[in-house]
Amino acid sequence: MQEKGTISIHTENIFPIIKKFLYSDHEIFLRELVSNAVDAVQKIKRLAALGQYSGALGEPMVDVSFDTEKKTITIADNGIGMTAEEIKKYINQIAFSGATEFVEKFKDSKDANELIGKFGLGFYSAFMVADHVEIDTLSYQEGAQPAHWNCDGSTEFEINEGTRTERGTTITLHVNADCEEFLDKYKLQEILDKYCKFLPIPVRFGTKSSFDYAQDDTAEVEGEDEKKPERKEIQVDNIVNNTHPIWTKAPADLKDDDYLNFYRELYPMGEDPLFWIHLNVDYPFNLTGVLYFPKVKNDIEIQRNKIKLFSRQVFITDDVKDIVPEFLMLMHGVIDSPDIPLNVSRSFLQADSNVKKINSYISRKVADKLAELFKNDRKGFEEKWPDIGIFVKYGMISEEKFYDKAKDFALLTNTKQENYTLAEYREKVAPLQTDKNGNVVYIYANDVAKQDSFIQSANRKGYDVMVMNSILDSHFIQNMERKLEKTQMKRVDADVVDKLIEKDEKIESVLSEAETKEVKEIFEKAISRPNMKVEIEGLSTDEVPVTVTMDEFMRRMKDMSAMGGGMSFYGAIPDSYKVAINGNHKLVGKILKAGKEQQTQLAKQAFDLAMLSQGLLTGPELTEFVNRSIALI
Ligand code: ADP
Repeated sequence: MQEKGTISIHTENIFPIIKKFLYSDHEIFLRELVSNAVDAVQKIKRLAALGQYSGALGEPMVDVSFDTEKKTITIADNGIGMTAEEIKKYINQIAFSGATEFVEKFKDSKDANELIGKFGLGFYSAFMVADHVEIDTLSYQEGAQPAHWNCDGSTEFEINEGTRTERGTTITLHVNADCEEFLDKYKLQEILDKYCKFLPIPVRFGTKSSFDYAQDDTAEVEGEDEKKPERKEIQVDNIVNNTHPIWTKAPADLKDDDYLNFYRELYPMGEDPLFWIHLNVDYPFNLTGVLYFPKVKNDIEIQRNKIKLFSRQVFITDDVKDIVPEFLMLMHGVIDSPDIPLNVSRSFLQADSNVKKINSYISRKVADKLAELFKNDRKGFEEKWPDIGIFVKYGMISEEKFYDKAKDFALLTNTKQENYTLAEYREKVAPLQTDKNGNVVYIYANDVAKQDSFIQSANRKGYDVMVMNSILDSHFIQNMERKLEKTQMKRVDADVVDKLIEKDEKIESVLSEAETKEVKEIFEKAISRPNMKVEIEGLSTDEVPVTVTMDEFMRRMKDMSAMGGGMSFYGAIPDSYKVAINGNHKLVGKILKAGKEQQTQLAKQAFDLAMLSQGLLTGPELTEFVNRSIALI
């Protein structure tokens, strides 16, 4: 039996294109060939299980080896094998059926996954690293003859009788001169680790006849002219994969340690995760996986893109954008789904209905898990809150459905480190913090140290102050304001404490109209900054004499422009403050009685102290304040 043929008249260009356009992804040839081998082994196991194959199964195995002298990489399996007819059908025809279209359409594409899957070019990815490829195979079918296929990278191939005596297939790649980097133990090991670590059939990796040249120069052999280095065979032979990763098992069969150990296997350098979710659906799409909540803290960027996507235990990518909701991109772990279209463009993926369902499934599972943790162990949940709060808030901001579930377990933390759910918090603050229009005013601090004097004032009045200091909190605040009815959010330094929540009661000023005018002029003269507006307020006597505040609305506009929001187009918004003078403070009485010169000094001093307590006093003003204080003492 000897047969020659041409792969396809349209495909003369295909090898250069495979090579050129898939350049950056050369290494996936190994993923493709090993996956084919795994498929072939699984097929024979299934046939045996169905009683359609009665021969000896042997130990299911895929064997990857290389030979640095012959410059070959070999992928062998004891799977179903192929007859010569099947080679013709599957390798020569099917694999190239889309070739013309391939060459036409995807000349400009750089995404190897897209090309390879779409056109069934799995096997032909071998030509990314080898010009010359051989197949030695023996089909499981009774009376099948071994077949040998040989293709030297032109469009010509030949099939003749083979010599293989055991069922299965061996693919031999004669590696190109410019791809010799792959003839390396570490390189191949690295690729196998990346793509094949969790394949369901054992993959053995070793060197069959690679030689290590001993460096010992003194080992001269008598009678020989030439000094020949001693040859020592290294036999690396190990199974590279874990064939039963935990996501393929039933959650009931797993203990916490199994999940933790798997996490450590995936991320050897990482800290242990906070908790995890085992995903398992088979309708209307198929998906398994384990997602972990890491300790996030501040290194958000380092934590992104850690979820690994598999398809039937073959690693595909760790770019799961569009499959996992954006707010869960910080999670770690694995997702395995044969239903995610891997080989199509991003825009198609976004529109894919399975992908959308997967997306909302994951988000629902996460919400359910958090709700369960909250319900069963509130204390533990509160301890984890500093780490998970950021996910939850992001989720609440970005997804209505998630908000609806999360509103029952999301926590607000106050300056006393107490945690409340949204409902609990409202109940707590409503009695004292409802304004004259019936709005409940939530007061927050974003810098507890800087805003201490304001926090103390608020607490003296019986108001509670929430801590809102994460990068997402300004968005979260606006989101809550929109979602919660009759609710207003105010930063603790948005106004003097008596005006923070507008009430009907009015605190009378002890000053007469004329005195009020005089005090105002004294301070305006002393401060003389265009962006500072002086106002005389009748505050309680135990409040500070001077308070510098920025209106909530103004400040939010300013924050937005600083973050690159719409207003930044018109340039930065200037700071504009209110300087509230407490007319009822005894210092004001003292100022009124003092001489002209001293009035200005006292007003300056009182104003600078207010600025100082808020960390606003810097530069020449600070120096002037220090000098004036020294003069005073
Ligand atoms: P795909 O795997 O997407 O079908 P490939 O080009 O990788 O495309 O393979 C084409 C076909 O060749 C396979 O579907 C299979 O029938 C056959 N084949 C490839 N490798 C093997 C193997 N190691 N053992 C048996 N059959 C194989």
